[in-house]
Amino acid sequence: MSPEPTLVSRTEESVRVDVTSLLAQLVAIPSVNPRGQAIPAETAVATFVADWSRRNGLDAWLEEVVDGRCNVIVTLPGRDQSRIVLLESHLDTVEVEHMTVPPFEARVDGGRLYGRGACDAKGPLAAFLIAMRDLARSGQVPPYSVVLAGVVDEEHEYRGVTGLLASESLSAAREVVGAVVGEPTDLRMVVAHKGCMRCHIVASGPGGHSSRPWGLVNPIESIAEVVTHLASDVVPHLGDQAHPLVGPPTLVTSMISGGSGPNTVPNECRITLDRRTLPGEDPHNVWAELRAGVEQKFGDRVVVEEPFLVDLALDTDPADTFVASVGAALSHVGRDGAPIGTGWGSDASKLAAVGIPAVVLGPGSITDAHKPDESIDIDELTAAVEIMRTVLMGRVTYGMEGRNLGGSDASPTDR
Ligand SMILES: [Zn+2]
Repeated sequence: MSPEPTLVSRTEESVRVDVTSLLAQLVAIPSVNPRGQAIPAETAVATFVADWSRRNGLDAWLEEVVDGRCNVIVTLPGRDQSRIVLLESHLDTVEVEHMTVPPFEARVDGGRLYGRGACDAKGPLAAFLIAMRDLARSGQVPPYSVVLAGVVDEEHEYRGVTGLLASESLSAAREVVGAVVGEPTDLRMVVAHKGCMRCHIVASGPGGHSSRPWGLVNPIESIAEVVTHLASDVVPHLGDQAHPLVGPPTLVTSMISGGSGPNTVPNECRITLDRRTLPGEDPHNVWAELRAGVEQKFGDRVVVEEPFLVDLALDTDPADTFVASVGAALSHVGRDGAPIGTGWGSDASKLAAVGIPAVVLGPGSITDAHKPDESIDIDELTAAVEIMRTVLMGRVTYGMEGRNLGGSDASPTDR
């Protein structure tokens, strides 16, 4: 009888225990995005990650981004220390109001871990950290140095990734070979996602007593016409253009407000638009076109305000060496390595915008993210550790050791 299978399963079991325990500790530290308030919301979890990393043989430090809010940087030296592979995941979470599970208890039930951030994105972060720890412990030196960045503010204004791009930690490298951004993708490799343009449309009027409405422009009625126009004249045409991986753009009237009292003709009504853009669409042009259409129809009855948020789409070349190799690593461990696209956005587009080949990949499902009972499958969390070790060691990644699977599995098949 060979002792081998027992040894393997014991190793897998210890990875499972370790990654679950680390994720539980991360979930237990609240890091709800403060939505622009001056609160150092992510710093406790950043400090925990730095301390944990140092205890586990990795170099780590904090970098303040804004208002005492800190990114955490963790490094593992490779054979080529001037080139790095970047792992990026965000430390902040969305709100916890109306959750139906305790947000910070990290309860485990039926093979899943429950809590805010379990899959978005502390699960991917935990898998990245255990993979780096395992390599440091084993004495295996990856071909390129690994820099992990746990960043703030992904759920609001992306200031963490912006701070990271300005940081010495990246600029000191001769080349960032590629980046894996940790988000819940069901362990599929995302190479394309939509961007976003959000703006307000505002209608105004003189206002007055509701018993004397004659001749008063009612902004709520103006906005009602605008909403109808968007839904019946603009949205149906969005399907005319579609990207092979992310599908057509979308336009949603996501918020409305107006009126000051039940017996007053309102003097203002405003809506919020959320327009998801395709790779190749310029969000500013999208806004300008939308404004031109609305102004043509409604004249000066309404104002289309400048966008208050613009986010870039992601369109990474699946044939890039690093990207193809991440797909090959997935195939190597028996997963689907074909690239896919998504409708939701991530920090990857900001990294791609400065020329870093960036993909999004992590355990957990986006359908469990932001939910009242957010959770992650622990089998998938555990599998992510092996995938990341394979990516970082470059056995299939760069063909520097063992088999080189190159980009043979990297065709854009998922539509
Ligand atoms: Zn996320």
